Amino acid sequence: MKIPVYRPALSDLERSYLLKAYDSSWISSQGEFITKFEDSFRNLVNRSEALSVCNGTVAIHLALTALGIGEGDEVIVPSFTFAATINAVIYTGATPVLADVETKSFNMTAEKVEPLITDATKAIMPVHLYGTPCDLNPIQDLCKEYGLLLIEDAAEALGSKYKGISVGSFGDAATFSFYGNKTITTGEGGMVVFADKEIAEKARRLRDHGMSRERRYWHDVVGFNYRMTNMQAAIGLGQFERISEILEKKRALSEKYNQFFAAYPQIQIPLDNENYINSFWLYTIVLSEDFPSVTHLQDELLKRGIDTRRLFYPMHTMPVYQKYLRKNQKFPHSDYLAKYGLSFPSFPDLQDEEIEFITYNLSELLG
Ligand SMILES: *Cc1c(COP(=O)(O)O)cnc(C)c1O
Repeated sequence: MKIPVYRPALSDLERSYLLKAYDSSWISSQGEFITKFEDSFRNLVNRSEALSVCNGTVAIHLALTALGIGEGDEVIVPSFTFAATINAVIYTGATPVLADVETKSFNMTAEKVEPLITDATKAIMPVHLYGTPCDLNPIQDLCKEYGLLLIEDAAEALGSKYKGISVGSFGDAATFSFYGNKTITTGEGGMVVFADKEIAEKARRLRDHGMSRERRYWHDVVGFNYRMTNMQAAIGLGQFERISEILEKKRALSEKYNQFFAAYPQIQIPLDNENYINSFWLYTIVLSEDFPSVTHLQDELLKRGIDTRRLFYPMHTMPVYQKYLRKNQKFPHSDYLAKYGLSFPSFPDLQDEEIEFITYNLSELLG
């Protein structure tokens, strides 16, 4: 028996929609589920347009391209994120600039971003990591002051709210991922939402080979094929209709972990309060500097059948991204998180007995 970190919560609803798509023979990228999934998604984040795409990485690439970001531009991204964030910037020909994050939210802050702004800076792309909303208002202020675009990578934060408003509603564009271990899944898939209808129209065309909407097989821009299939959207719609249930279950299990960790005040638990409503994609703790070995803790848990996940290697530590570092740049908070963070099983159908089993074993190991 092993308790995994994640397992998608798929119900009969998703199954029935998927079979309906299959039986209709609309299995490619046209069909009723695509429109329905996009419509319901757009309402959640209250944006004028939502475009489904084939994964969360191309969602970012499409957003950046539609917003006109390319060669000669700089885009500020956190070093502490999943590589898709920085990779998508590189695909456009723009230069990624790495910012450190703060420990308590895992996210970059306006304070860390501002010194990195140059004449070439075109956009800031915060990530709401592990479901924790980024402190967006000060970053929005920076964007206004310096005339920059704001793109939210909300791949890990569907359902998170900043000051009462869903993340993904703050920027010029925001992107989501529906990979198998994300809050909702379509197998592979993503969504990009836009504030501006014209930019969204441009993105719609880019998503579909850059083909003219009026004149078929006429291309006046080099586009991509980034479409989602009706079968993916069928699963997505079913998942989306169950989003409240999924989020409630994740909140309930996180509260159980919180109760356990309350006895360990030296351990940081996920940020979650009125202004930062966490969707708890992965329940992630940060151990203190004097903690002997996170690797040992992880190995011991695994021996007892409990899988855990270390946090991302910060981008600045990987040779492939070295060339994007500014002179003498340091990322102490990203380094700290990578060393002392640990994510626990966080899937919606995690049973109470399983959480008890996890916390029982943790209490033995933590003392
Ligand atoms: C999952 C994820 C993405 C996109 O991933 P895909 O696997 O391409 O859907 C982008 N950014 C972050 C932070 C992610 O966690």
